[in-house]
Amino acid sequence: MDSKKLSTSVLLNIKELINTKKKILLVSHYSPDGDAIGSSLGLYYFIKDVLSKDCVVYNRDGIPNYLSFLGADEIIHDSIETLPKDFDLALILDLNDFERTGSEMSNYLDLTIKDNDLPIIVIDHHENNKIENSEATYIDTDASSTGVLVYRLIKQFPEITNESVKSKISTCLLTTIITDTSSFKNSNVNPETFEICKELLSMGGDLETLNKSIFNNGEIKRLQLRNKIYSTLDFNEELKTAICHSTDSFYDETGTTKEDSEGIANSLLNYSDVEIGIFIREIGTDKWKISLRSNGFKDLSDFAGRFGGGGHKNASGFRFDGKIQILIEGIIKELKNG
Ligand code: 5GP
Ligand code: MN
Repeated sequence: MDSKKLSTSVLLNIKELINTKKKILLVSHYSPDGDAIGSSLGLYYFIKDVLSKDCVVYNRDGIPNYLSFLGADEIIHDSIETLPKDFDLALILDLNDFERTGSEMSNYLDLTIKDNDLPIIVIDHHENNKIENSEATYIDTDASSTGVLVYRLIKQFPEITNESVKSKISTCLLTTIITDTSSFKNSNVNPETFEICKELLSMGGDLETLNKSIFNNGEIKRLQLRNKIYSTLDFNEELKTAICHSTDSFYDETGTTKEDSEGIANSLLNYSDVEIGIFIREIGTDKWKISLRSNGFKDLSDFAGRFGGGGHKNASGFRFDGKIQILIEGIIKELKNG
């Protein structure tokens, strides 16, 4: 069977599974981005408002402010304790390693699969699937976003008739594409990206609100934070790599949060002599979160994998415990190794 037919048969299988279940859990990764939240909420509105089924969304870190236009905070559960029980299906979105849901949810999923036979469906576009025992796996690493895959799934069902539900869902799915492609600038853009965006816009997706909320929502303190971050900039000419970092004090001193440093690694690629942009954020004492972005020169999913992380060719990340100087030296050494 060719891959297109195969993927359609997986989608039909997933459709059948959803149709036969009553109470569905949606889970996405911690430190959620527009794709994690947009694909979760888009599918949530579809399951709840179109299929009229019980649906619950979990994300360990809740909804970032800049995405709150997609739905009320109350929709997202961020604790296992307050999570309703007795699901008969769980969909895992925008990740393919339970660890990325956070330890609480990861343990919960492991136990519920084992003890209650909870069927799991994985819908994702990352490389290196690590989830075993799923009932169905729909992974397409060529898809621009997980929202694209949710769109393909929704298309298997009868057309949505309620206009306001339709536009709500389309705004969520447009968000997944705009954020994961960095507004059509990443190499994960393909003809389907535009075909789906065309459809989503005609379904009533609100591109204006989306763009304003995501890109024009900063106060001047955000610029003050960025000023501090860019002052740490180090450019390695030989490796065409720009690295900068933030510490907790930067956020404290400017009254900002980690959301105000979203997009820093990407912004380094705006300069023609930079092929790899790296942003390192302090997440605890001698604990760091590393975001890597490439303009295509290097496969960064493989690179982050060497440090225990993962992601895509052009956008990946990992975590590191230790001194930042050791971290940066390690990154440079690995980059030199090729
Ligand atoms: P970001 O830098 O935006 O947090 O992440 C970029 C990409 O790398 C995302 O697709 C994300 O899934 C992946 N990623 C980031 N951090 C980690 C990590 O610690 N582990 C894994 N496996 N993937 C990560
Ligand atoms: Mn994604």
